[in-house]
Amino acid sequence: MKSSQTAASPSAKIKRVGVVGGGQLAWMMGDAASKLGIELVVQTPHATDPATAVSIDPVLAAIDDVNATAKLADRCDVVTFENEFVNLDGLRLLEQEGVLFQPSLSSLYPLLDKYIQRCYLRDFGLPTPRFWEWDCSADLPFDFPFVIKVRRHGYDGQGTFIVKNRESFESICARLKGRPLLLEEFVPFDRELAVIAARSASGEIAIYPIVETQQENQVCRLVIAPADISLELKAEAEAIARTLLNSLQAVGVFGIELFLTADNKLLVNEIAPRTHNSGHFTIDACKTSQFEQHLRAVCQLPLGNCDLNCNAALMVNLLGYESAESDYLEKRKQLAQIKGAFVHWYGKKESRPGRKLGHVTVVLDGESARNGRSQAESIAQTVESIWRAS
Ligand code: ADP
Repeated sequence: MKSSQTAASPSAKIKRVGVVGGGQLAWMMGDAASKLGIELVVQTPHATDPATAVSIDPVLAAIDDVNATAKLADRCDVVTFENEFVNLDGLRLLEQEGVLFQPSLSSLYPLLDKYIQRCYLRDFGLPTPRFWEWDCSADLPFDFPFVIKVRRHGYDGQGTFIVKNRESFESICARLKGRPLLLEEFVPFDRELAVIAARSASGEIAIYPIVETQQENQVCRLVIAPADISLELKAEAEAIARTLLNSLQAVGVFGIELFLTADNKLLVNEIAPRTHNSGHFTIDACKTSQFEQHLRAVCQLPLGNCDLNCNAALMVNLLGYESAESDYLEKRKQLAQIKGAFVHWYGKKESRPGRKLGHVTVVLDGESARNGRSQAESIAQTVESIWRAS
């Protein structure tokens, strides 16, 4: 694909989308692509990766293999991303040759390195935890607890360390020595929230209901939609999303993670330039899923309606709890019996502790939706007791 072919005009009909990355986020674009009459081609290292199942003739190569992305681009009208572990310098050469990336590489640049991302937020006057560029040799600017993060390639809490005392500090430092790190204050948040928002190339923005997220060991466990927050906070979270998406000239779905402090202040924790785990509930609980929305944005189609199609919903991740080869079919059948439940299984062949293997969304209507967080917590416990039963 070169610019002369695509012209990137709003009238250009995009038929085939290349996706760099072939995990569950790309896999979940599959249904949306069929609905929109779009073909997907993924670039992913292994033939067994989830999204090969929804791709025509996948490009089997590492995510940061630029030659492979050039091949992908040759076969597609536009290239998008399911994760941010890309080789930006290499991709720039392709962009100069006319490959259309959506979101563009300049939108991605401030987000790929956690320190640069924090600087971007600070320079925009957006609230963020206090932070320092750091390596293990420098003096600590404050006392325990604090948070150490690897600047690049961290995900699902891998690379994020909440350091509570000197003993854990020393063992983490021994592990991370030599890697570029971000040090930041520990935020004793009251709750964590997330905003899933999309922006089109024409500047249209669509925002999903703000959600509450709960993490365990820095990995998302539960998402509750909508978050039980005041209208003022909702407006503030939406305004942060608008400011960010406009300033980045974003195209596609972006996930924005927020801390809500006890004195009702919002701080931006992280921006992900892609569809997001906090938005999985949208598949079953919203008029347009985040995956359809992302494809709409990158294919220059009008954005869809973000409204809930139920009163409320919750999403529980099915995280691996053992090293095993199993499709957990019996457990999935039991989970599907829960009222309002939709079970999504990513088709991964191997389970490992903490690995995201699937998720369950439960849609809530009527009385059950009125009990909010306590109801969500009780259903999450039911899901987890089935999932983890021996
Ligand atoms: P990742 O990119 O791996 O998802 P995050 O930076 O989003 O890592 O952190 C994962 C989780 O760790 C957050 O959702 C939050 O629960 C916790 N966390 C991260 N940074 C802080 C912080 N500064 N203070 C308190 N908790 C934090």
